[in-house]
Amino acid sequence: MSDESWIRLLMFVGVLAVMSVWQMAAPKRELTQGYRRWPANLGIVMLDSLVVRLLIPAGAMGAALWAAENGWGLFNLVELPGWAAVVVAVILLDMVIYAQHVLVHAVPLLWRLHMVHHSDRDIDVTTGLRFHPLEIIFSMLIKMSVVILLGVPALAVLIFEVVLNGMAMFNHSNVRLPKAVDTIIRILFVTPDMHRVHHSIIKQETNSNYGFNLSIWDRLFGTYIAQPEKGHQGMTIGLTQFLDQPAHQLIWMLRLPFYGDMGQYPMMKFGRGPEKGDSDAG
Ligand SMILES: [Zn+2]
Repeated sequence: MSDESWIRLLMFVGVLAVMSVWQMAAPKRELTQGYRRWPANLGIVMLDSLVVRLLIPAGAMGAALWAAENGWGLFNLVELPGWAAVVVAVILLDMVIYAQHVLVHAVPLLWRLHMVHHSDRDIDVTTGLRFHPLEIIFSMLIKMSVVILLGVPALAVLIFEVVLNGMAMFNHSNVRLPKAVDTIIRILFVTPDMHRVHHSIIKQETNSNYGFNLSIWDRLFGTYIAQPEKGHQGMTIGLTQFLDQPAHQLIWMLRLPFYGDMGQYPMMKFGRGPEKGDSDAG
């Protein structure tokens, strides 16, 4: 394995371990499903990395090296000090991921993939890893295109991927943070309380707080909701149409995009939405 893969693997295991212990020691909510979701949530992330490695082995890092070699992209055209290019690139990539997240909520076909993430009946550190392999491939292709168009430096890609992965585990975790600490972190970064709103079954809350790293995008683009209407203890996590289904099973998760009811969630600003009677493919 390359140095890059080792760094990413060690950070992944490290953050997963720290957040797991932390949420056991100071849980915010009692889990309704407990740990029976864990095998499938951890199983799908392993499957995801396998699929990406097999299908797109170059990855975003490969795209960055290719862009640098061929002088592609904005950053290879304008003269910026190395550190400034890395900082600007990481922030831009974060905005792209925010936009991509809005997109997967808005476009019915993409929402089908993203439902897998939202169908988790609890939100904890493993929810941050629960994505359908097709969504991971879609996300990787978007990331690679942006990396090439912008000519993002390889170091920025590595930093971004490690930070995004770590932050996803942090802000999905079921940890209890003092209100004052949450308020301070939230000025710039997404906190677990902020992201939990996004996993509410209430549609307006599901379609809010899209950010994964920086909290500024939601405020800037008007998608910010500070707290869940029913409170962090009273709110229900998941998607209404799947509350009585075995959402903790890996096979169920893998099949979901192909047969699952989309419910009333996609914003349908683009494309054709589900009409009554044809929203459910069976
Ligand atoms: Zn989402």
